[in-house]
Amino acid sequence: MQATILNDIKAPYCPGCGHTVANKNMSKALAELGVDPLDVIVVSDIGCTGLVDPLLNCHTLHGLHGRAAVLAMGICMGLESPGKKVIALQGDGGATIGLQHLLEAARHNLNMTLVVQNNMVYGMTGGQVSGLSSTGFKNPSMPEEAVPAYDICTLAHNAGAAFSARAFIGGDSIDLWKEALDTPGFCLIEVVEMCPAYAMRKVKELHEVSDYGVEISRNDRSPNVLIREEGPSLFESYKAIEKTCEAALDTRLEVIIAGSAGEAIQSAGDLLATAAITAGLSSTKKGDYPITIGTGFSVAEVILSREDIDYTGIESPDVMIIISQDGLDKVKSRIGPHTLIIADSKLGIEDHPLLVTQNFRKIGGAKGAALAAIASYLQDNGLLPLDALLEAAGRHKHGDKMIAIIEKATGLETATASG
Ligand code: SF4
Ligand SMILES: [Mg+2]
Repeated sequence: MQATILNDIKAPYCPGCGHTVANKNMSKALAELGVDPLDVIVVSDIGCTGLVDPLLNCHTLHGLHGRAAVLAMGICMGLESPGKKVIALQGDGGATIGLQHLLEAARHNLNMTLVVQNNMVYGMTGGQVSGLSSTGFKNPSMPEEAVPAYDICTLAHNAGAAFSARAFIGGDSIDLWKEALDTPGFCLIEVVEMCPAYAMRKVKELHEVSDYGVEISRNDRSPNVLIREEGPSLFESYKAIEKTCEAALDTRLEVIIAGSAGEAIQSAGDLLATAAITAGLSSTKKGDYPITIGTGFSVAEVILSREDIDYTGIESPDVMIIISQDGLDKVKSRIGPHTLIIADSKLGIEDHPLLVTQNFRKIGGAKGAALAAIASYLQDNGLLPLDALLEAAGRHKHGDKMIAIIEKATGLETATASG
């Protein structure tokens, strides 16, 4: 006898729970269709329906609440072997939470079956009504002016499901299950069930309270079969940065670069980080800017270190490069007594013990001021060879302009003020 997807483990549900019957129906339908349990992938949801995993002999995946349909879609898209049967199980609560996913799954019409076990309550959290609770259902959490339940069979059908059906537990619904499990494309079967703990206890009550009756709908659509194609890994598009020179830096250096949107602050940070790697160091770079990226401040945080960098946050910056008022306003609260400030002279910063100012905006223009300041700083302290910065610039799509800025900045005298 062929193995079924249900094993012999005792179901954990309350006595009389509809999930027990629904699981048996699913198992029976698959067995009658001759499906090998090892060809079945079940995605379960949060809630009492999700207690099913240990009861199954097939592959299982347990997802977040309401996400069973979209996880199953992902599995369909990633399958190398199209012969697998992908089934998502969720309750009425999960279907309510993940309704958009349900509609998307129907719209895309991938080869999968979504089983919605509708007992009209969130059973696991104490019997609260869901979007699939019918108006005739009396429950302390049901509002007096109850609105009709979502008719998910009709919604799925209108979204393009190949097959959708509503079945009430208790009758002989094996043929509906088989059609839902065997029709090419997206199939939904809503099983209206008892939850003796918090809702209906008898099949008769299910019919009495339900807003909708048995329903079967079909769309004559070809299933959407995606063939997985092997593409290049994301990492393959990155060119390894080879060490070509030696940095003098032998500790950890934390640098903040601050300016305005559109002033190539992030590019300058990238260049400094790349130059550090070119010179044999570890480096990280993080960007901080408003969601509206075309206005306001732009800040890059760069860490250079001889050691591996485990923590990428900067609490006490060693160096701050500031080239605009937006940048200054954003980072001034982070300036420490030992922070070296390298600032555009037009900002008028004066009262800091470690201060280097120069008219970087004149040297590099608005888009090259930060890079000019970095080049000038490296030239002064020799922590990284300028060749490393030039090499990093040479890898950039605007490399020619960047190299010109670096050369111009390092050919000028630095006006230094310290208190
Ligand atoms: S709470 Fe309801 S849905 Fe959950 S196991 Fe008990 S009867 Fe079943
Ligand atoms: Mg439920």
